[in-house]
Amino acid sequence: SRSIALRDVSKRYGRGSLAVERVSLTVEPGEFLVLLGPSGCGKSTVLRMIAGLEEITEGALYLDGEYANHVPPSERDIAMVFQSFALYPNMTGRANIGFPLKLRDPRGDHEPQVEATARMLGIEDLLDRFPGQLSGGERQRVAMGRAISRQPSVFLMDEPLSSLDSKLRTHLRAEIARLTAELGVTTVYVTHDQSEAMSLGHRVAVMRGGVLQQVSSPRDTYALP
Ligand code: ADP
Ligand code: ADP
Repeated sequence: SRSIALRDVSKRYGRGSLAVERVSLTVEPGEFLVLLGPSGCGKSTVLRMIAGLEEITEGALYLDGEYANHVPPSERDIAMVFQSFALYPNMTGRANIGFPLKLRDPRGDHEPQVEATARMLGIEDLLDRFPGQLSGGERQRVAMGRAISRQPSVFLMDEPLSSLDSKLRTHLRAEIARLTAELGVTTVYVTHDQSEAMSLGHRVAVMRGGVLQQVSSPRDTYALP
C-alpha cells in the first residue's frame, strides 16, 4: 500500500466555476479514508483526479511522495469501483475477475489468483455465471473482485453500495471493511451516507461546495446537515 497526498488541489471543468477548491489531504498507507458530503460537492472529482481520470487544474498530487499529476492512470497501480457495476456482460465472473490479470500478462495462468480473490469475497460459486445471472449485490462483489485481483496498492470506491437495498448495504459494508483490512490496501471511499462513513472510515473527510471542511476520526465528525 502507499500514501496519497493532495496539496491545494483545484479542479475547473471547462470555463465553469471551481468544482474542487484548494483541497489538501493526506491518506496514510493502509488507511481507510471516507470522503463524505452531499451530491455535487466534488467527491467524485477528487477521486477521479487521484485515479488520473481527470486532469488537475491547479495544485499537486503525490503518490508515495512522488509528484504524480502527469502519471498515466495505467501506471498508478490504482483500482476503482463505481456505483454502476460495469462488468463485461458477455464474460463470466471468472473472466471478469481475471481480465485485469490477463491484460497485464496475456500468457500467464491466472486461475490461482482468480480463485484466491473469489475465496476472499466468498463468491467461488458465482465464477461461472454471467453478470445477467447475478443479483445486484453479487454483481458488486464480482466487480470488487475484478478491481482487487491484481492486488493494487490503492483502492478507490465511489458510492459502491448506493444502488443496493439497505440490508445488503449493511452486510457488504462489513465485507468491505474486512477485505480492505486483509489486503492492507490504502482506500478512499466516497459516500453521501453519514452512517456508512462513520462505520467504515478510519478518518472521515467532509466536503461541501468543493471545499474540504474537516478531517477527523468518525466519532468526532459532527456539524453535518
Ligand atoms: P454522482 O452524482 O453520482 O457523483 P453524477 O451523476 O454527478 O455522479 O456524474 C455522472 C457522470 O456525469 C460523471 O462522469 C460526471 O463526470 C458527469 N457529469 C456530472 N456533472 C456534469 C456536468 N455538469 N457536465 C458534464 N458532465 C457531468
Ligand atoms: P459528487 O461526487 O460530490 O456528487 P462531483 O465531483 O460529481 O460531485 O461534481 C462536482 C461538481 O462538478 C458538480 O457541480 C458537477 O456538476 C460538476 N461536474 C462533475 N463532472 C463534470 C464534468 N465532467 N463536466 C462538467 N462539470 C462536472
